Amino acid sequence: MAPPTSGLHHVTAIAGDPQRNADFYVGTLGLRFVKRTVNHDDTGTYHFYFGDERGSPGTNITFFPWSDGGRAGEFGAGQTRDTAYAIPTDSIDYWVDRLESRDIDVERAERFGETVLRFEDPDGIGLELVATELADDADVQPWDDGPVPVDHQLRGFHAVTLAVAEFEPTASALTDVLGYELEAEADGRRRYRAAEGGPGSAIDLVETDAGRGRMGVGTVHHIAFMAEDEAQQQRYREAFADQGLRSTEIVDRKYFRSIYCREPGGILFEVATNEPGFAVDEDVEELGSSLVLPEWLEADRESIEAQLPEFDGPSIEDGSQ
Ligand code: ZN
Repeated sequence: MAPPTSGLHHVTAIAGDPQRNADFYVGTLGLRFVKRTVNHDDTGTYHFYFGDERGSPGTNITFFPWSDGGRAGEFGAGQTRDTAYAIPTDSIDYWVDRLESRDIDVERAERFGETVLRFEDPDGIGLELVATELADDADVQPWDDGPVPVDHQLRGFHAVTLAVAEFEPTASALTDVLGYELEAEADGRRRYRAAEGGPGSAIDLVETDAGRGRMGVGTVHHIAFMAEDEAQQQRYREAFADQGLRSTEIVDRKYFRSIYCREPGGILFEVATNEPGFAVDEDVEELGSSLVLPEWLEADRESIEAQLPEFDGPSIEDGSQ
């Protein structure tokens, strides 16, 4: 088996309008806009990355905003239902107030001994904030200039909840390839934990009677797991193959190298390297401030920019709350 992953690297979803998407993740959730580029596989679509100050692995939710005319997705089996970020345990009231003051419906629940706030983004993507005792050495960099006070900022991923028709096929991909272990089970939910623990190390599975989901606006496209380097990534390719699962060749995504594999429950898994990261083509101070393209698309910049939808950069209403 390949060496175990240390957890989630990023989550990528399909949004509608790019302006509304960026306004929500930066202006409301207080994530930093760390990269403004295009979908390498569809250069008429932006690819936005939101994360901590540096876009550290384990903090980034990323979007292909298809515009409001994009085909709507349908929730169902084989999809990521909720993406959870960790917040400090004394930030619960702050977040309930912040979200409700923006007319966002918040459901509050207790799960595995932690308080969970669940809500949806403007496109219907399920999000959670989980109040968690956080390790001081968590590799998450606060964004000093953000609209959310540093003490209350999101602290990287807590978990994702994957909805599947039955537990076992997806569970075996998690345990036999990626090194996750079953940690707890309650209320129809199984929690798996990556070997090293720490931020973003949990994956929850729930079973659903819904038919197979359909990817589109308002759904998650894929989730990515961390690999230390390409050597570890190559071993995941072999480990997927040992399970009879076909994965792609290693793809250069500029900020990381990736392989993709559709696990047997239908969810697209990616394994992404932690290096080189988002500062490879912009200074940390400048992250997200302009459209950056990988060198193999730079020659087409003019035509790419002409095709992209209107977008002014995220608006931040106030820094007071
Ligand atoms: Zn990805």
